[in-house]
Amino acid sequence: MTNRKHNFSAGPCTLPLEALEEAQDEFIDYQGAGMSLIEMSHRGKHFVEVAEEAASLAKEAFEVPGDFSVLFLQGGAMLQFAMVPMNLLNPGQKGAYVHSGSWAKGAITDAREYGDIYIPWDGSGHNFTRMPLSNELGALQDHTRYLHITTNETIGGIRFAEWPDVEVPLVGDVSSEYMARPLPWEKFDLVYGGAQKNLGPAGMAVVFIRNSILESCNRNMGRYLRYDIHQSKDSMFNTPPMFPIYLFGKVLKWMVRQGGLTAMEAAAAEKSGILYDTIDASGGYYDCPVETASRSHMNVVFRLANEDLERKFLEQAAQADLMNLKGHRSVGGCRASIYNAMPKSSVEALARFMREFEQDNH
Ligand code: PMP
Repeated sequence: MTNRKHNFSAGPCTLPLEALEEAQDEFIDYQGAGMSLIEMSHRGKHFVEVAEEAASLAKEAFEVPGDFSVLFLQGGAMLQFAMVPMNLLNPGQKGAYVHSGSWAKGAITDAREYGDIYIPWDGSGHNFTRMPLSNELGALQDHTRYLHITTNETIGGIRFAEWPDVEVPLVGDVSSEYMARPLPWEKFDLVYGGAQKNLGPAGMAVVFIRNSILESCNRNMGRYLRYDIHQSKDSMFNTPPMFPIYLFGKVLKWMVRQGGLTAMEAAAAEKSGILYDTIDASGGYYDCPVETASRSHMNVVFRLANEDLERKFLEQAAQADLMNLKGHRSVGGCRASIYNAMPKSSVEALARFMREFEQDNH
């Protein structure tokens, strides 16, 4: 395959080429059925097999304990901002939210529509350049049902280096580091994220929920919004996001072939390390505002001396086929998103370009 550029997009983003090629090969005529998978009934043999395999592989690949179910839902991670408090917060209970940046703020904003929400740790005082340490949250209030964390802030480029040490269950938005590091499942009641970064195409949220909490979930809402219904119907309550589920299965198989979660975690540390080393070795030419311990392994953010220079950097990078390095429109600067499928060779190409650009534009 020629003409694949180095794509540092924050999501949708680079996916494993092998998974794309497999999908291409079987797209028009799925396994001799004379039609594509997305033209078949979601209740037919072919798709049910695909969905069951994706669900069991997801639990295996992400090392999820047996008392969790996996759900494939529409509405992206954003719908989960609302579904979590709607389902989990019973009357009289509170939701604690770590305010770590743009995406945490989104979760807080939506949760406030449905329950009593408070913020035990607020990163705005540090301009969201770090996550809290495990013991930094202080005592949580009485009747707190869960502590919500955004394990990796995609825009700010920060991640939890240590998991919070709290008495209540965690709920995690892991959108931008899904299946890139192991999770301490015993701490979590629910984990969610959009698929369009590490897992496949946009159009699906993947949710892992602890079965024992389903009993006490609220039921006074439209049926699509209820976790217990999706769980009891194996994510087939209505027509599921068929193509994302299908490609997710292929991405999972690719991930397992690479060595699974341990290999993904090690590769992420290595790839992000190459960029952070380049930034640190530049003596301030490139500046990463994030405190070292909280540096994301998925989204590497950096600035240059001024916006004109950043514009030139982005233009010349694109000429060298290094695409989508512009920071999020809300913060500016540069951002290299290097999810699981990003080849190390692309990261090395970027690091090389950064060194050359620095030499040529001092
Ligand atoms: N949470 C995080 C951490 C994200 O990065 C994003 C999207 N970039 C979202 C939530 C929103 O996801 P979606 O677009 O799937 O609703």
